[in-house]
Amino acid sequence: MGAFPDLHVHSRQSPDSTTPMAEHCERALEIGLTHLAITDHLELHPDNLFYGRYDYESARAEFDEAEKKYGERLTLLFGVEITYQKSITDRIVEALEGRDYDVVIGSVHYLENFGGDISSKKGTPAIFARNDPTAVYEDYLERIVELAECGLFDVLGHIGIVHRYATRFLAGIETGRFERRFARIAEAVVKSGAAVEINASGFNNPPNTTYPDERFLRELVRAGCDRISVCSDAHSAQGNPPKADGLGAHVKKALEIVRRCEINEIIYYKNRKMQRCSISPAK
Ligand SMILES: [Zn+2]
Ligand SMILES: [Zn+2]
Repeated sequence: MGAFPDLHVHSRQSPDSTTPMAEHCERALEIGLTHLAITDHLELHPDNLFYGRYDYESARAEFDEAEKKYGERLTLLFGVEITYQKSITDRIVEALEGRDYDVVIGSVHYLENFGGDISSKKGTPAIFARNDPTAVYEDYLERIVELAECGLFDVLGHIGIVHRYATRFLAGIETGRFERRFARIAEAVVKSGAAVEINASGFNNPPNTTYPDERFLRELVRAGCDRISVCSDAHSAQGNPPKADGLGAHVKKALEIVRRCEINEIIYYKNRKMQRCSISPAK
């Protein structure tokens, strides 16, 4: 059987989760995960929601404990999800110095030009309602180009998550006019050598598919990108009913999408070095 990896999940080391890492590991063994990356939020701009709330020493210590207990049964990876903004590049570089991560994910959560978070339930509709939706969306895509070009990260997180709380604003605008920008993003991604995450949390929210979706993934593959990661982005081990958003949730559906795009290996990082695992069902 092929690997069943979940390469971006949050523990109680993130302000929006209460789940101990050990609980994730227990659940991972229960559902048959082969690889698990715990990637808590690190935010470095004072306007970010979780600014100043991440404690590296605490996260590292909890991870080391979990690894001692579960590391032989599961490929466990210590990571972080950093909110990327170009203006805080120096802070990001500084925050990574001497830190012992396996994997560093960069995600766009915040648009400085509009002063708000594009993945928050309340804030996102507010930004779109206050501004021209096309302008906000175009700004988001520009920030994604910057993310792909910055060269700071191993993995580019959940491209397209802006859809989650802005579906009704985006319904009329995301047509062919943005395709040139997709091509630019794809080109920047390939040049960067970073992996692109296929985030299955989009199955719990609009657009009821992955971030990014299959169409975008095809564009990436066509441009020459074969470095794909996959994850649930779970914030709890069991999930929060009625949503099925626990560990591993919808990852198998995401893997089907990846295979349909003729990618048969998933990228993960150990000590920030790229590794591959087969997701071919025959192996
Ligand atoms: Zn995120
Ligand atoms: Zn996340």
